[in-house]
Amino acid sequence: MTAVATEFETVIGLEVHCQLVTKSKMFCGCSADYSGAGPNTHVCPVCLGMPGVLPVINEQAIEFIVMTGLALHCQIAEFSKFDRKNYPYPDLMKGYQISQYDLPVCTGGWLEVEVDGSRRRLGITRVHMEEDTARLLHRTDPSSGEGYSLVDVNRAGTPLMEIVSEPDMRTPAEAREYLVRLRQILRYIGVSDANMEDGNFRCDANISLRPRGVLKFGSKVEVKNMNSFRAVHDALVYEEIRQARVLSEGGVIPQETRGWVDERGETVSQRSKEDANDYRYFPEPDLPPLRFSRDFVEKVRAKLPELPEARKERFLALGLSEHEAATLTEARERADYFEGVVRALDLEQPRAAKLAANWVLGEVARWANAHGGELARFPIAAARLGELIMLVEGGVITAAVGKDVFDQMAESGRGAREIVDAAGLAQIRGGDELAALVRKAIAGNAKAVDDYRAGKESALKFLMGQVMKETKRANPQAVLELLEKELR
Ligand SMILES: [Zn+2]
Repeated sequence: MTAVATEFETVIGLEVHCQLVTKSKMFCGCSADYSGAGPNTHVCPVCLGMPGVLPVINEQAIEFIVMTGLALHCQIAEFSKFDRKNYPYPDLMKGYQISQYDLPVCTGGWLEVEVDGSRRRLGITRVHMEEDTARLLHRTDPSSGEGYSLVDVNRAGTPLMEIVSEPDMRTPAEAREYLVRLRQILRYIGVSDANMEDGNFRCDANISLRPRGVLKFGSKVEVKNMNSFRAVHDALVYEEIRQARVLSEGGVIPQETRGWVDERGETVSQRSKEDANDYRYFPEPDLPPLRFSRDFVEKVRAKLPELPEARKERFLALGLSEHEAATLTEARERADYFEGVVRALDLEQPRAAKLAANWVLGEVARWANAHGGELARFPIAAARLGELIMLVEGGVITAAVGKDVFDQMAESGRGAREIVDAAGLAQIRGGDELAALVRKAIAGNAKAVDDYRAGKESALKFLMGQVMKETKRANPQAVLELLEKELR
């Protein structure tokens, strides 16, 4: 690792393939929502690659790629076209894939990452549109022991967007952060589920090393088969060390493709990298070129939601801390929910934001963690949580009772006021019941009473704790005053 840090500079570029959440496939009317469907049930002559059929462009997919380009600060081409990428493989029904070669929809964008407190802008070379391939399932016949493969065409022809970065990353940590930010943006704008574990967000990484101070890039290795952000990070760390060792011993790194083997924590050579010309790209004759008017691009821009960075800045301006603003804006649903709660609070802005943040990052996050981390299934509407917060804030119930009411609301679906009224949970600030509890605490804790009379203030807090243990409904200030009165 030290050799990497002192002798060499690491250069990383990422290629991300991401499935778009359109209703139908890229070039036919088949439903793209095939998860859970039986094999080869979402197919038609077009996505099966039958001769004599014609593809038709999915307009929603085109709008999604333009949205993505705008969110990533790209130029949207005025003129773009599809090309055929030819290669024989059993997952490719037509023997070629419709993709984009020299005129992609989006070029020249960037996104910002922050690693160890320093911000860097990482370039995005291009975003282009293509179609996904079929899925191969490799099996072994139990009787003969021979291997065979099954083809499921459901995935073939679903819209796939490829996002290619510049070789701008210098550490595996930066590469991981790039993926985290990219996924966040794609989910915010709603174009993809961007879930690496489910395979609808896949990443290949190019990595090379060069002696420090040298501008020319070293020969690059492409790493594949990484199924999580952690795997991408670990594979890049492994390659960094491996390449540094080979180079410091005077060896050369051949340009090749390597696969990450997660169980062994290492990369293995798969094949030498083919050149782009091997694909014999040529313009797709069955599809018209794409022309994007300024007007169309501006219409799409108007549909973009507020992006995570801007939203975070706005939350900071509400008086939230860096950590609160960053955590609340991680996912759009969480930020939306938080803002719903703020709107439901009849309080001044900074106070409302702080209270809503406390509840959303506290109790609501606790509930979500206990239920698979999903806020989508959280049963308390933002406005109803607002009602509960106002009951606590207005002194109707104590903070401790508020948490119990929260749990009951999540469980029963009833409103805060209804639960409080039905169970008589309102705070007690005086009366016989509280007076009795105070006298009981004094009678049962002679030592604390003596300490208090001897001038030890903390003894009063202890006695107060004894009362509060008996009932969560007691108003702390009222308990304190009653104790002082009784002890005098
Ligand atoms: Zn089809």
